[in-house]
Amino acid sequence: MAGKIYVVGHKNPDTDTVCSAIAFAYLWNKWKETGVMNDVMKIEDEAIPVAQGDLNAETKFVLEKFGVKAPEKLTDGAGKKVALVDHSEKAQTLDNIDKAEIVAIVDHHKIGDVTTPNPILFFNLPAGCTATVLKILFDKTGVEIPNELAGILLASILSDTVIFKSATTTPLDKKVAEELAKKVGISDLTKFGIEVKGKLSDVAGMTAKEIMMRDFKDFNMGGQKVGIGQIEVLDLSLIESRKDEVYNELVKKKAEGYHSVFLMLTDIMKEGTELLAVTDDPSVVEKAFGKKLEGRSVWLPGVMSRKKQVVPPLEKAFS
Ligand code: MG
Ligand code: MG
Ligand code: MG
Repeated sequence: MAGKIYVVGHKNPDTDTVCSAIAFAYLWNKWKETGVMNDVMKIEDEAIPVAQGDLNAETKFVLEKFGVKAPEKLTDGAGKKVALVDHSEKAQTLDNIDKAEIVAIVDHHKIGDVTTPNPILFFNLPAGCTATVLKILFDKTGVEIPNELAGILLASILSDTVIFKSATTTPLDKKVAEELAKKVGISDLTKFGIEVKGKLSDVAGMTAKEIMMRDFKDFNMGGQKVGIGQIEVLDLSLIESRKDEVYNELVKKKAEGYHSVFLMLTDIMKEGTELLAVTDDPSVVEKAFGKKLEGRSVWLPGVMSRKKQVVPPLEKAFS
């Protein structure tokens, strides 16, 4: 009997995670409808995009702009068939993932710690965005991307690559973005990128806790619980006056059993990150980045990517 597959991105959903879930659910249903994947896998289940939490202002703007419905919320995977996009870490996925059946993973991160008893579709590229990886899957399987999905995938690329400034950006991201932009008739990618990223730069209306948690991910590093949040703003001075309260939130968060809690305050225009740190061992910062904490933070020029420039050196420092 045909059932349902819930396509889900990581906790604290960002634009790429939400839009990739929507696009992959669409692609999966096209595969089912056309039978294009029959040679390798018979698809009977209907895919439904979901998100693990409330959508942020940027994602809401993107979905509204292109007239795409927001996904339902799902936080528990028990007894469900699921496809993961934009992550494969247990700490970032649905609760009770061990009681779920994972049928596919499409991602652009390091391979995480979820495992499956059966072979599955697993497609990962070291690109700047899951949306880029998905565009390749659409093309390779001959499925046309509808305009509204082209729009949200384009916005995802601009968001995840920080308008191509992040070290994660590959020539493929740029090429795919150009193609999608042409399709939806957007000529100035920088202008559109600033419009997208600007939606999350407005921290005035956010509580300090919201600033910390908006894009916060848990990691296991050398057996220690480590949390790393990131906030990307067009201009760091927007956040300057909030730093004390944000730091106090980090201290509270750390008390939830973390070895270290970090928050990347990333300046999109200056292209660098002020890393706030609350840690049991400040030397991990120096080991990872070659710079000592000055008080509660350290300025890391050129660092914009958690995935590529912060997680790997920290993991090394913890190992
Ligand atoms: Mg993401
Ligand atoms: Mg992503
Ligand atoms: Mg991101």
